[in-house]
Amino acid sequence: MNSSKPSQWTQREIVPFVDLRAQYAVLREEIAPAVEAVFKQAAFILGPDVAAFESEFADFIGVSHGVGVDSGTAALKVALEALGIGAGDEVIIPANTYIACAFAVSQVGATPVLVDMRDDYLIDADLIEEAITPRTKALMPVHLYGQAVDMQVILEIARRRHLKVIEDASQAHGARYRGRPCGSYGDVGCFSLYPGKNLGAYGDAGIVVTNDAAIADRLKLLRDFGQRKKYEHLIIGDNCRLDTVQAAILRVKLRHLGRWNSQRLSAAKMYDARLEGIGLTPPPRRNDEGHVYHLYVVQVPERDRAIERFAAAGVQTGIHYPIPIHRQPAYSGLNLPAGSYPRTEQAAEKILSLPMFPEITEAQIDRVVHALQEHLSEARTGSPR
Ligand SMILES: *Cc1c(COP(=O)(O)O)cnc(C)c1O
Repeated sequence: MNSSKPSQWTQREIVPFVDLRAQYAVLREEIAPAVEAVFKQAAFILGPDVAAFESEFADFIGVSHGVGVDSGTAALKVALEALGIGAGDEVIIPANTYIACAFAVSQVGATPVLVDMRDDYLIDADLIEEAITPRTKALMPVHLYGQAVDMQVILEIARRRHLKVIEDASQAHGARYRGRPCGSYGDVGCFSLYPGKNLGAYGDAGIVVTNDAAIADRLKLLRDFGQRKKYEHLIIGDNCRLDTVQAAILRVKLRHLGRWNSQRLSAAKMYDARLEGIGLTPPPRRNDEGHVYHLYVVQVPERDRAIERFAAAGVQTGIHYPIPIHRQPAYSGLNLPAGSYPRTEQAAEKILSLPMFPEITEAQIDRVVHALQEHLSEARTGSPR
């Protein structure tokens, strides 16, 4: 007998945070033969689908080269290495981003230098200059939650201070800045292709894009044992190649990405209108076509209670990210006390990511907003539950 307490919500009724099962149900007919073809050819390592995906993705971003790797973190790491960044160097990253940005910098032997955010959660370019030292070698803007950083300002600082630019577009596949895709502005653009990203593999994957043939060549060496010819190792390289099976899946999914991104934008607009109706500020959006809403992030009072309320209503939520990088045990060595990045720290206490995925329905959005409204009226009147 199953003695476990039955959950209040059945699988069907849960509003998931992301719904990869709904997506696969639609893609199955396309994915299955693509994967089977790789199995039949036994072309598992750097098979033809890898080069094909690299060039298709580079075209999508509007750059000349793509180099597939096995994660977004690996993408950032080989990008830093390809640009010659290492021990003794500093790289400027946002205080409000995923830990991988800092880890990639640390793993190549350099030091991450954090810069606080603006009210749109993106790096505050006005604070970058004061973070630059003689050791600074690069800027790593992150197009967080799917919204483009103001690249003109970033590129202007980089040009004036002779810095490299590594864009982290891991949450911004297809996002645009001034009509051009994110990832096409820097010396390199890095993308995670983790399953839950706007373009996601069925496992870990990533890609680096660039317009510079010499950098692309170096990236290819770095991801594959430093070899151009088998057993001839020109530089000390890693093994972080993109799997052929993942490349075959990604080629199928890339064809749907544009539509998925517009579905995310429509969902965000539905959320926006309903949030305004219940008196909660929607997340700032700077331009309509550019934002690809990897995440839909709001700020709520009494967040812990809000999360409980959502859970009770069968709504899954997330926090991106609950503990800022400089408050992580792993970075206690940076000696950055609480209060070092006040806007990032304040946001970390209040932010809540609502369910967001291309297939989300209006009915699901209504359920999320209804639960949110109930929480807000409780929080406002201070009424006990
Ligand atoms: C997901 C993500 C990464 C890391 O990617 P992995 O594929 O998980 O290694 C890096 N940067 C940002 C902004 C991300 O969202």
